[in-house]
Amino acid sequence: MSFSTPVNRRMKPKKSLGQNFLIDLNVAHRIVDAISPLTTDTVVEIGPGKGILTKILAGRVEYLICIEMDDFLSQNLKSKLNATAKFKIINADALKIDISDVIPLSTQYKLIGNLPYNVASPIIRHYLTMDNKPSFITVMLQKEVADLIAAKPGKMGYLSVEFQLRSTVEKLFTVHPSVFKPAPKVKSTVITMKPHEKSKIIAGSESEFLTLVRAGFSAPRKQIHNCLQHSLELSKDLIWDILKLAGIDLKNRPQTLSLEDWIRLYTVFLERGVNL
Ligand code: SAM
Repeated sequence: MSFSTPVNRRMKPKKSLGQNFLIDLNVAHRIVDAISPLTTDTVVEIGPGKGILTKILAGRVEYLICIEMDDFLSQNLKSKLNATAKFKIINADALKIDISDVIPLSTQYKLIGNLPYNVASPIIRHYLTMDNKPSFITVMLQKEVADLIAAKPGKMGYLSVEFQLRSTVEKLFTVHPSVFKPAPKVKSTVITMKPHEKSKIIAGSESEFLTLVRAGFSAPRKQIHNCLQHSLELSKDLIWDILKLAGIDLKNRPQTLSLEDWIRLYTVFLERGVNL
């Protein structure tokens, strides 16, 4: 696939679609390199925008599928690219796409995107929970959100537990707002995620586990026993017993618990037959 002369039309970036376009080619190459693209790969790009990542990817992978919600950008990209059967632009909301309608279940794919800030976490969640999950993800998102997703015990939040339950997260590098046009107000960070093939929740269900985690983070400044007791409306004695059995100090704050602590805690809830 190749690029023809760009269509020279102006457009005003839409804040509602998180349109901060990357203008630094060096950063674009680093993002693409982070998915280790192979010539045999199928890659899905979320929000190609004006195509800075797309142009690099197009020359490096076998199949490229781009999902862009903005009608104008999507049309513009189609006219800039000489589309082939191996290159597709879907003008749609990435949150509403079932990738199985686009890629056969048996085909592995990698996911990449400089994500719109306002829906970055929902987009990651959408693809991590599909039947046909990506084999690898590289995304750029707001630094604070990236920090939370990749956090270690001491700084964990609900999002850290949820996304680390489903993938191995690695923080790669952070960039200054000036690499975008228009420049956002905050820094951005690139992370990679390797989705787990098997669920870490062996008994019970992931959704019930996450109900427990949400209850645990209902008041992050409070101690874990208080959060659980009030949010789940259970007796103090029962919560104290469960925390002791799980080997968790009652006075810990929720952000200090590791993913393994949460899984152990959930296991004790199950063993005690407590409904969540
Ligand atoms: N990839 C381009 C770049 O690096 O310059 C654009 C990145 S810009 C931060 C986010 C892009 O996602 C925009 O092109 C925007 O129109 C698109 N977008 C926003 N919400 C979307 C959604 N729900 N589904 C698909 N694309 C979306």
